[in-house]
Amino acid sequence: MPLHRKHGNIRVNDPRLRVWNDRPILTGDYVVYWCQANRRAVDNVALEYAIKRANELSIPCVVYEAVRPDYPHASDRFHTFLLECGRDNARVLAERGIAHGFFLPRTAQEARGVAAKVFERAALVVSDDHPSFVFPWQNQAGARHAPCAFLTVDDAAIAPLALIPAHESQARTIRPKLLALLDEWLAPVRPIEPRVRGELDWPFDPVDFARDKIPALVRRCAIDHAIGPIEDRVGGSRAAWARLSNFLARGARGYDEGRDDATSDGTSGLSPYLHFGAISARTCALAARDATLPKPAFDAFIEQLVVRRGLAFNHAIRDPRHATYESVPQWARDTLAAHAHDERPGAKPPAVLERARSEDEVWNAAQRELVTRGRIHNVMRMFWGKRIVTLVKRPRDAFEFAVRMMDRYALDGRDPNTYAGVGWCFGLHDRPFPERPIFGTVRPMGLGALKKRFDINTYVQSIP
Ligand SMILES: Cc1cc2nc3c(=O)[nH]c(=O)nc-3n(C[C@H](O)[C@H](O)[C@H](O)COP(=O)(O)OP(=O)(O)OC[C@H]3O[C@@H](n4cnc5c(N)ncnc54)[C@H](O)[C@@H]3O)c2cc1C
Repeated sequence: MPLHRKHGNIRVNDPRLRVWNDRPILTGDYVVYWCQANRRAVDNVALEYAIKRANELSIPCVVYEAVRPDYPHASDRFHTFLLECGRDNARVLAERGIAHGFFLPRTAQEARGVAAKVFERAALVVSDDHPSFVFPWQNQAGARHAPCAFLTVDDAAIAPLALIPAHESQARTIRPKLLALLDEWLAPVRPIEPRVRGELDWPFDPVDFARDKIPALVRRCAIDHAIGPIEDRVGGSRAAWARLSNFLARGARGYDEGRDDATSDGTSGLSPYLHFGAISARTCALAARDATLPKPAFDAFIEQLVVRRGLAFNHAIRDPRHATYESVPQWARDTLAAHAHDERPGAKPPAVLERARSEDEVWNAAQRELVTRGRIHNVMRMFWGKRIVTLVKRPRDAFEFAVRMMDRYALDGRDPNTYAGVGWCFGLHDRPFPERPIFGTVRPMGLGALKKRFDINTYVQSIP
């Protein structure tokens, strides 16, 4: 894979940059990097861009990070992971000599107006571009409140999302475009030395990670305490790097075959870290390339990390309704509507299904895995989502239930991959198949597909 660039940092007219208001860069006291979607302190294009602009203005760059209690599905599970990301960022930014303020309001009331105060004396605010969840409207609000220019940097996938202007309908159409862009965009991000250092008198009491214990911090927030943290998935860049190197040393060499076995540890487990931006897809791809994996394993990993993930982000950026049933293609909604009244013998109310009380033991195990471990293996997610089409009475309700479960329980939920993954179960990024009950011409998936890949009983028994 040739590299035409020395590094992945921002250049003039970079397609990753987006301007959100029409205010100028001011003679302010600092440049703020508002760290929202990419919770990492190295290999972060937006952060390095903020440092570069601060250096040009001879003022410090400061990093503002916050976790509000009122994002959808806020719970101990996600707050803990986010704070663990913040703890790593605090350490790395201190080493780099960059001021870092982590704001953890207990209530929505306490959060009100604080970002605007942080931006008050800024020359420029830089943040993360991201097409899903709360980020589009948070950036709109940020741009309104900033007295100065408000810019975002798209560092979500490896190549800038703007470079693929079409709304791609399938992996085969986007694959050649994404793979061709790797030649230019797959390059490490060079850390920039801050020329001016300075502390900020934050308009809140910043979390002190050396003093404050994360469980105690989480307990005092007005969030859902019934959904607990996942102990074997510690958040943050340090854990992300450890997971990546462990994967490359073990499962990655047989990834092309091992990834389909839900009873083995054959996949990377990186999705929560990619979702919260504790590690970049760029770093994962570069490390996989340097690990000189066997070609089938490397190609299979790039297919997921670059092509499938890129397809999901393309869908999210090109369709603002991507988290809703309206984003399912018309042909698929039509055929599902035509079969909406087909008999569904195992159907149950969503509240019963949420407690993993269907009549299907395999589906129940996948649902338990989601609720208790905050994840489901990819093959089981496909089965789980397809089975929901038959377990919930109306197709739209089934879609909404699947999204709600992922967003509420999955560490990697609330992501373009969530909506594309659930959408695929309803026909997104797919083609029609021979017609059958309930699914119409949407591709079905039954237990047979799992039985070919691994021993289902071993899987069911492994989930408490
Ligand atoms: C119904 C359903 C819901 C899903 N919900 C989510 C979700 O909420 N969040 C999420 O990140 N993924 C989701 N996926 C996609 C996929 O299941 C997960 O990305 C994968 O299981 C994560 O495990 P891993 O990190 O070990 O993946 P690996 O196999 O190690 O792959 C490496 C990375 O490639 C990307 N990737 C892998 N498979 C896919 C895929 N099919 N589509 C897009 N990107 C992929 C992920 O970023 C993943 O971390 C969903 C799939 C389905 C069918």
